[in-house]
Amino acid sequence: MKILILLLATLFLSACDDNKQPAKVQQSTQTYTLTLAESWPSNFPVFGDATKNFKQLAESMSNGRLKIQIDSKNKHKSAFGIFDFVKSGQYDLGHSGSYYWKGKDINTLFFTTMPFGMTTSEQRAWFEYGGGQELMDKVYAKHGMKSIIGGSTGNQMGGWFQKEINSIEDLQGLKMRIPGFAGEIMAEVGAKPINIPAGELYTALDRGTIDALEWVGPSLDLRMGFHKIASYYYTGWHEPGAELQFLINLQKYNTLPKDLQKILVSAMKLSAYQMYTHSEHESAKNWASMKKDYPNIKVRTFPKPVFEALKKANDTLLKELAEKNALAKEIIESQTSYLKKIRAWTAISDQAYLNSQSE
Ligand code: CA
Repeated sequence: MKILILLLATLFLSACDDNKQPAKVQQSTQTYTLTLAESWPSNFPVFGDATKNFKQLAESMSNGRLKIQIDSKNKHKSAFGIFDFVKSGQYDLGHSGSYYWKGKDINTLFFTTMPFGMTTSEQRAWFEYGGGQELMDKVYAKHGMKSIIGGSTGNQMGGWFQKEINSIEDLQGLKMRIPGFAGEIMAEVGAKPINIPAGELYTALDRGTIDALEWVGPSLDLRMGFHKIASYYYTGWHEPGAELQFLINLQKYNTLPKDLQKILVSAMKLSAYQMYTHSEHESAKNWASMKKDYPNIKVRTFPKPVFEALKKANDTLLKELAEKNALAKEIIESQTSYLKKIRAWTAISDQAYLNSQSE
């Protein structure tokens, strides 16, 4: 009996002892090198900083188990090849803009920004809590990829114009560099949208090859010098919260241990957060410089009838898209209903506050 009690006591004590010891986790030290192709040239400001931040975050958070190797456009030579690079596995990761892929899959159009759509804070709420990420997963899974938000430019400016836009007639025949869905809307109201590479924009506007152009906003417009050759700077409507994207090859992603998958996605989201704050900071700083050096820049907003015509064209084109495929319809309905709900909140929060502060 004594022996039995002693044995039980020993077992009990050893069990207690075990409880004091933290469970020994077999921590893998295997390193994984992931290659990333970005649409941007080397040292491109803001957008390029986002991938550098992501690399630094992923490597430090994983204690060196993740290594990220970034190739810019100068290396891979194909700014718009990122989708195919990541889909084929030629690169493991990408950094670009989802709406560039509308020619490959029309349903990728919706995940950057939509004319008359959500602002950055509204759209991020949709991505995280309103079903946006799930819809984006659905679209990209077909291509063996996953996409994660990659950094917002904030609200983009409507662009630089040589003449004032007072009516919808002023847009008719207007040659404007404006890509994407917004370009299609412009065409619907009679303008002539053109897409011209970034490096040729200044000369095209200066020589009158185009009458107007949109790029981003002060964060990236200042270095392009458009304010030196165009008087009117219009406020935005077409890209209210342009969010870049990270792309991940799903096959590669599935070979990573669970903790590294989590670190990878967290590093992407954190660098997307940093890019947004960086964009806001650069826009504020650069707008102050532009106003100081060129006090005659005239900031304008399209008159209401122009917006109404553009909105009507937008709604017609969205309706056509929804009729073409069921997934497009699902995404458009999700964005439309979420925008309605969250805008009602924005109206009595940020909008009301800003209106109360304006002179
Ligand atoms: Ca733009």
